[in-house]
Amino acid sequence: MFNYNAPADLLKDRIILVTGAGDGIGRSAAKTFAAHGATVILLGRTISKLEAVYDEIEAAGGPQPAIIPLNLEGATYRDYEEVAVKIEETFGRLDGLLHNASLLGARTPIEHYDPDQWNQVMQVNLTAPFLLTKALLSVMRHSEDASIVFTSSSVGRKGRAYWGAYAVSKFATEGLMQVLADELDDEHSKIRVNSLNPGATRTNMRMQAYPAEHPAKNPTPDDIMPVYLYLMGKDSQGVTGQAFNAQEPALKPQQ
Ligand code: NDP
Repeated sequence: MFNYNAPADLLKDRIILVTGAGDGIGRSAAKTFAAHGATVILLGRTISKLEAVYDEIEAAGGPQPAIIPLNLEGATYRDYEEVAVKIEETFGRLDGLLHNASLLGARTPIEHYDPDQWNQVMQVNLTAPFLLTKALLSVMRHSEDASIVFTSSSVGRKGRAYWGAYAVSKFATEGLMQVLADELDDEHSKIRVNSLNPGATRTNMRMQAYPAEHPAKNPTPDDIMPVYLYLMGKDSQGVTGQAFNAQEPALKPQQ
């Protein structure tokens, strides 16, 4: 596991948006960020799940979160601009953006991959993060120290048979991260951009991909949170354009 011990107030006063915050890794990240002091903006498509996370954060005594219902599949650029306006008006800035929501799609050979499903997976996993990032960059520039994290996968770093659009969308996500990080990597920029592969994690998506596997074999979303905290907090200032793995030790021990 990535070795990082976050101080309890690491994310105090930070405003962080998490996509797909209602379930799996996104839910855990939202609750973990709030437990470390962040005001979390919960974005997702199933309002009841977002409300449940909202209630859990409030019950744990975290800062009052915000909810933005949005289905990344049907959203247009206008919807993303509205998200940016809402954040600007409510908070004045954005310090963290975790692109977490994704669709698995079919596990099937390229030859048999359904073209409509290809577009659907690309829309949610790649185009939506591009559009959301594009819309939010101006409000992130108001932060003294902002962090964008794109969620990748092992199959976005080395191709594997039958992973189709999901794998290709994750390769493209790595590309988007690198291009954006390079664009923002100058002495005036206060925005860092990295990608993160959670590794096999006990969620609905993992069960869908590996139905025969015993879920207890894999760490829970809460177990993999150290690297999420590292990337969202001040200790990763200046770190940009890098591909992280949640379940591998950091190259240098982080504190
Ligand atoms: P889950 O399927 O458990 O959760 C995905 C979340 O994304 C859900 O909250 C889901 O909403 C949301 N989401 C899906 N489609 C949309 C949409 N169209 N609009 C808005 N929200 C949407 O997945 P994980 O937690 O496992 O995965 C999180 C990230 O980690 C993904 O990017 C995944 O690719 C990556 N990952 C996961 C691994 C694992 O082993 N779990 C391994 C490698 C990478 P709803 O609850 O409404 O369905």
